[in-house]
Amino acid sequence: MDTAGVEKAIVVGWYWEHSEVCLENISWQQDWLERRPDRLMAFAPFNAKGGREAIESIKRAFDMGFTGIGELNPPAQGYTYDHESLLDAIALASSRGKWVNFHVTDPDTRDYPGKIDTPIDQLMDLANGFPDTRFIFSHLGGMMQLDRIAESVNVYLDTAAIPLLYDSNIYKSAVGQMGAERILFGSDYPLRTFPKTQTEPEFVSHIDQIRNSSLSDQDKALILGGNFSRLFNPG
Ligand SMILES: [Zn+2]
Repeated sequence: MDTAGVEKAIVVGWYWEHSEVCLENISWQQDWLERRPDRLMAFAPFNAKGGREAIESIKRAFDMGFTGIGELNPPAQGYTYDHESLLDAIALASSRGKWVNFHVTDPDTRDYPGKIDTPIDQLMDLANGFPDTRFIFSHLGGMMQLDRIAESVNVYLDTAAIPLLYDSNIYKSAVGQMGAERILFGSDYPLRTFPKTQTEPEFVSHIDQIRNSSLSDQDKALILGGNFSRLFNPG
């Protein structure tokens, strides 16, 4: 973060297959939040298979200052998009003014290990079923039907892992369909998103890719911090 000039970041949880591992992940994040509350925020990992205990862990995470839930990937985590505990978790996030972040896969990109379909219809059912909850669909929403996603004003996108999946023209395309004010910079750190040139995980190359893209200066400023400041009140 220091190297890239990033003042504040949200540390997002992994989509663990076992709920117990989510609890352990939350304890790491809690430790980081306590150490650097000035620099870090957090989304709590969640697995609906954990049932009531998983819901309690999300409640405690919100009490500790977590800002949302995610990254969620139900097909990879072994539960369905209409699982009762997932709906309970989203309702809880809604009641506490917290965010919900889903992994979204573009079915048209090349295959990679762990690639799994995330049906846009089911994601949109959730977003439209909880209109007061703000959602982030990761990886530019898999570039799936962005004109349709754009109609649901509670849905935002992030740019996590984008350099690994597309060339830099994709930003212009996403902004054209969604508007820059609903796209947040996401890194997918510590994934190396420029594997040919990176030996260590870092944010700089991805930020530079956006800075050097054909977007307007205003759109770049929104994606690279402006939206975050407006939406998350980072202080
Ligand atoms: Zn993801």
